[in-house]
Amino acid sequence: MFKSRVYNFSAGPSMLPLEVMEQAASEMTNYRGCGMSVMEMSHRSQDFESILRTAEQDLRDLMHISQDYSVLFLQGGGTLQFAMVPMNLLRKSFKADYVVTGTWAKKAAEEAAKFGDIRITASSESDGYTYTPDVTAENFRTDADYIYVTGNNTVFGARWAQYPDTGDIPLVCDLSSGILSEEIDVNRFGLIWAGAQKNIGPAGLVIVIIRKDLLGFAPPETPTMLNYQIMAEHASLYNTPPTYAIYVAGLTFRFLKENGGVPAMEALNRKKAGLLYRCIDSSKLFTAPVAPRDRSLMSVVFKTGDPELDKIFVDQARERGLVNLAGHRIAGGMRASIYNAMPLEGVEALIRFIEEFDRTHAGGPHV
Ligand SMILES: *Cc1c(COP(=O)(O)O)cnc(C)c1O
Repeated sequence: MFKSRVYNFSAGPSMLPLEVMEQAASEMTNYRGCGMSVMEMSHRSQDFESILRTAEQDLRDLMHISQDYSVLFLQGGGTLQFAMVPMNLLRKSFKADYVVTGTWAKKAAEEAAKFGDIRITASSESDGYTYTPDVTAENFRTDADYIYVTGNNTVFGARWAQYPDTGDIPLVCDLSSGILSEEIDVNRFGLIWAGAQKNIGPAGLVIVIIRKDLLGFAPPETPTMLNYQIMAEHASLYNTPPTYAIYVAGLTFRFLKENGGVPAMEALNRKKAGLLYRCIDSSKLFTAPVAPRDRSLMSVVFKTGDPELDKIFVDQARERGLVNLAGHRIAGGMRASIYNAMPLEGVEALIRFIEEFDRTHAGGPHV
C-alpha cells in the first residue's frame, strides 16, 4: 500500500535508523566475509564474541558505564524484568518501594508483590498519569531493598526529568522507552533495564545494567535463566543469546557513536519534542494533558477531546504516511512516539498536518 517508507510513530517495536537496517541488509547473507549470516553463526564463534563485546563496549562508551557495572544482554522482553528485579534484588528486608507513574510501573509493582512486601510510595494514577510525583528520600522506607521507577511512561507520556534522591538505597529504573535519548548519570542507579524494541533494535532482547555489588543475592531456587549473577558470570553467554537482535543493537550503538552520541540525540530529541508540544499548545483543537515540567521527549500524547475527531485525525494522518498515531488502547487520543530514529522531517510533517487539521476542524467536529 505504501510505495516508500512511512513516518512510523509506533510506540514499539518502532523505527530504527535506516542506515542500520541497510547495513544489516547488506550483510544479511555474508557477514563481513564470514560466508554466513550472523543468524547462522555459532554464538561461541570468535566472530559472534566480537559482535557481542563490541556492542557492550559501544554501549558502555555511549552511556559512560563504569566497570562497577555489568552489562547483560538477556531475553524475555521488558516484562520478564518485572519479575527478575524482585527475584534478584529483594535480599535483606524483602521490602521495595515503587513509584507508579504509568501502566508499566503498575504492572511492575503487581508482579513484584508476588515476591515481597511492595509499597506504592506515590502514584499519579488518579490524575491519569499526567505528571511525575515529587518524592524525596524521606518518602521511602529506610529499610527498602530498592526503589523502583519507570523513566519514561510510554503510554501516558510523562517522564522523570530529575530522578529522586534515594540515598543509599539502590534506585532501579525501567528505561525501556528512554534509553539513549538523553544523558543520564548511570552511577545514580543500582540497576537500569531496557527492552530493545523502542530505541535499540529487535524485540525480545533486553539490556540490563546492574551494579556489581547487587549481584549474587538471588535465592538458590531461582531459575538459572532468571539469575543476574549467572548471566553476568557467563558474560551473557550462559546459553544461546538472541544473537541477531544483539547484532542489530550493536549496529545501532555504533551508528549513535558515529553521529554525536547521546548528547547529539538529546539535542535533536529536545528540538523535535519542543516543536511538537509548541504546535499542540498553540492549536485551538488539540491539548497535551501532561504537565509541561514532566513531558516526555519520546512519547508525545495529545487529543482533541472528541474520540470521533481523534479517529478522523489518525485515519487522515495515515493516508499521508504518518502512521500509528492512535493512542494506547487504554489511553485513547493520539500518541506520537518520536524515538531517536524519527527524523526531524517526520515531526515537521506531523506538525504541518496538525496545523492543517486544526484550521479545518477548529470550528466544530464536522468532517
Ligand atoms: C514496552 C515497555 C515495556 C514492556 O516491554 P515488553 O518487551 O513488551 O515486555 C515495559 N516498560 C516500558 C516502559 C515499556 O515502554
